[in-house]
Amino acid sequence: DEWTVGDAQTWKTAIEAEQVDKDDVQGVANTVVRHVTTTLARQAGNLDELGAYQATALSVRDQLLNRYHTKNAPKRVYYLSIEWLMGRTLDNAVLNLDMRNTYETASQKLGFNFEDLLNEERDAALGNGGLGRLAACYIDSMATLNLPGWGYGLRYSYGIFKQLISSTGEQLEAPDPWLDRENPWEIPRLDVSYPIRFYGRVEAIPNTSRAIWSGGNECLAVAYDVPIPGFATKNTANLRLWAARPIQGFDLNSFNAGNYEASVASSSDAENITRVLYPNDNMYAGKELRLKQQYLWCSASLQDILRRYQKLNLPWDQLPDYVVIQMNDTHPTISIVELMRILIDEEEVPYDVAWGITTKVFAYTNHTVLPEALEKWPLPLFENLLPRHLQIIYTINMNFLNEVAKRFPGDMDRIRRMSIIEEGSPKFVRMALHSQLLQSTIFRDFVEFKGRDGFTNVTNGVTPRRWLLQCNPRLAQLITDTLGSEHWLVNLKQISQLLPMADNAEFRRAFREIKIENKARLAEVLHSELGLSVDVDSIFTCQIKRLHEYKRQTLNIFGVIHRYLRIKKATPAERKKIAKHTAIFAGKAAPGYYIAKLVIRLVVNVAKLVNHDPDVGDLLRVVFIPDYSVSVAEVLIPAADVSVQISTAGTEASGTSNMKLGLNGALLLGTVDGANVEIAEDVGEDNAFLLGHLAADVEAVRYSNSYNPTPLEERSPELAAVFKAIEANTFGDGHVYEPLLKTIYDHDYYLVSNDFGSYLAAENLVDELWADQEEWTKKSIRTAFAMGSFTSDRSVQDYADSIWSIEPDPVPEN
Ligand code: PLP
Repeated sequence: DEWTVGDAQTWKTAIEAEQVDKDDVQGVANTVVRHVTTTLARQAGNLDELGAYQATALSVRDQLLNRYHTKNAPKRVYYLSIEWLMGRTLDNAVLNLDMRNTYETASQKLGFNFEDLLNEERDAALGNGGLGRLAACYIDSMATLNLPGWGYGLRYSYGIFKQLISSTGEQLEAPDPWLDRENPWEIPRLDVSYPIRFYGRVEAIPNTSRAIWSGGNECLAVAYDVPIPGFATKNTANLRLWAARPIQGFDLNSFNAGNYEASVASSSDAENITRVLYPNDNMYAGKELRLKQQYLWCSASLQDILRRYQKLNLPWDQLPDYVVIQMNDTHPTISIVELMRILIDEEEVPYDVAWGITTKVFAYTNHTVLPEALEKWPLPLFENLLPRHLQIIYTINMNFLNEVAKRFPGDMDRIRRMSIIEEGSPKFVRMALHSQLLQSTIFRDFVEFKGRDGFTNVTNGVTPRRWLLQCNPRLAQLITDTLGSEHWLVNLKQISQLLPMADNAEFRRAFREIKIENKARLAEVLHSELGLSVDVDSIFTCQIKRLHEYKRQTLNIFGVIHRYLRIKKATPAERKKIAKHTAIFAGKAAPGYYIAKLVIRLVVNVAKLVNHDPDVGDLLRVVFIPDYSVSVAEVLIPAADVSVQISTAGTEASGTSNMKLGLNGALLLGTVDGANVEIAEDVGEDNAFLLGHLAADVEAVRYSNSYNPTPLEERSPELAAVFKAIEANTFGDGHVYEPLLKTIYDHDYYLVSNDFGSYLAAENLVDELWADQEEWTKKSIRTAFAMGSFTSDRSVQDYADSIWSIEPDPVPEN
């Protein structure tokens, strides 16, 4: 019924011929072999695993593209995220297509082990950590819920750097050339591209609010589409990533004048814009190239969204009925100004109408309260790169502050706090609300001004498809068998029905066996990759996340050292009472983050000593797994006994590894911070180990650490002993760690010394519980099955209902 070109029957027959039944092994093998021989131009005789992976991925991609794409829903959500930490796709895609068995069998028949093919895939690591992985979980949920949603991001040629660890324990960074091989998951859409301008001049058009922005440099943003399959639905969502390209291959004037270098320079300048992901997590770097990335991505996405709307031939004031744009943190806020610019300057919409439309179209999520993460651009840099946008910001700010002044006459301090422009030399353009703590002062100003309605809390979530079904298939099977259906995978609340199974000895045995199998799988990887033997009967504690002072890997490694010193002193009788620990760390440090890198170095050097000290025996192992990634997380998370989440109270906005680890049965050892609060509420405080100062007390303790310091000995004698051991070169190069220890001796901004005693006490409770395996397993079961609300399906549904006002687009059965 949609054919406007050619013969409908010919089209339909051809399309049907492309469909493969989900159980049709030969049909799947046919499509794989077709890609081997035609797309890759290879033969059975010279096909290696990489080639087999590529042909298989292309065959799966065909299946995805033959599926349904929401198109009837009137209103769509566009999710703008500068990071998409997707990880691998193949396993996830065949699971979502319900074709895993078919592909596994087809691979086998073609002479390949499917698991080996999975390992050929490189992670799409276009993100630093939580923020980018959240976007990945959300788009999985949007597809699964049949919500009409699109993702927009950047196609970085190089993702997050590869982390290498030198023989002295230093982090070294290497490029991540993930696109060196063909990426079978993306579809280049060279036909979808938009011009992007930087620099240049602005000329006002007299008697209007319009202006003409011209000159400067122009480049193109070209679209690359990545299909995102929903689970248990035929729906496939789209993630559109932009790559920067020169408008012309080279500059003809320079070329003709014989200056070859100059003729190609501008084209490589353009491509540099999307060359590499900024490797900072929760840390703002005021670099022009980053602002270029942000503007290219925002402008291209908006031009794309508006082009789609313009096909409807509707007036601009109806845009909010069709479009909602969700900004993942502050990185895309320039898109607000870009929409204003397009509406005013190009579409000739009056200023007030444009502002009315804009305020209805955008929604923004704040993900951090750390002051160093809040973006603010030096005004001269901003004005040079985006002169017209600065003018529009001035107007928005003036109107806004006039309103504030009307409501709060004479309150100059409030106006200063709320202004988009920060006074000073230089001035700054603030992209976020600025203050030590958003929740307190500044946030209160905005709530007072706009009313509570403008603000909502949405608890984050993770997709149970990747973070349980895919990474822990045995546990998923146990849940499905016990519940009698796999409906829980799209309605995670249902796992709470399994809570009473904690009291069933047979179920506990099955649950425990799965954990041990997962630990054995991890142990094998550690042995083959790092040459390290670990005891699967020891407690696997996992702190796996970016290295950051606020996340306090310090508490953990100092706790390990404390344990080591204790073991060294223990009598044979005392040794028998010490629980066996395997302390697992993984995570990257931003390349310029000196203190974070010192923590890695300390962990690695402690590991070296401890793991080879015959006195220690099997009581303690310390593991630093290099190059943490989504794929590494998928092996670690199902194997964890303890989820270490020990950020200083009031610093972690949410965290999501706490949810993934909980869902896989790891007990929470954590501070009362971020989503730990809600997790502890749901699993019950009896089933978690909480520690540390509460957020309400942090400021007072911090103040006293800074202005009224007591010696470390008094704050924590145990920590003082640990520091002495480090300084005495126990782990080599004691002086190297001086700057790290000094942060704690001096100001201890993150309260490491103040929480150390409480941390050790909580670890003792962990050890006591471990001695009673039946009790431990009960709490592990109660943790896993209390995690029903931490699914990204619930988060995304919350957004759809309370912020986006969008409905699912029903997907036909066939
Ligand atoms: N990095 C990777 C590779 C992840 O998979 C995750 C997921 O939880 C994170 C970072 C975020 O970890 P956290 O919530 O502990 O900061």
